Amino acid sequence: MQGNRSTNTRPELIVRRLLFALGYRYRLHAADLPGRPDIIFRRRRKVIFVHGCFWHQHPDPACTLRRHPKTNVAYWRPKLKRNRDRDRQRLKVLTEGGWGVLVVWECELRDQPTLARRLTALLGHIECGD
Ligand SMILES: [Zn+2]
Repeated sequence: MQGNRSTNTRPELIVRRLLFALGYRYRLHAADLPGRPDIIFRRRRKVIFVHGCFWHQHPDPACTLRRHPKTNVAYWRPKLKRNRDRDRQRLKVLTEGGWGVLVVWECELRDQPTLARRLTALLGHIECGD
């Protein structure tokens, strides 16, 4: 799976497939919630964002996908900072609204057993509906 950049392996699709395989059902891209979370579990009041490590500047120093831009720094730095600030603001609004939020980073998709454990910890046991 690694190295394949086709649309079917986009990070969000990988997470959706894993959720489905675990038996969870979900909604996508709720426009009425701050930041239009990628995956929504309304009854559980949980949302998942799947973040690209570069665009959202994954803060983990161990991340190998973040890649600080080396050219055009004057352009990228404020742009990426705006992304980070916006993410932080959305997370705050959702959390204050009683939503449980999980951010899944692109580089974390390589370890699917760990990701599956985190998803299960967020969502609890499986019932009908989202
Ligand atoms: Zn990362």
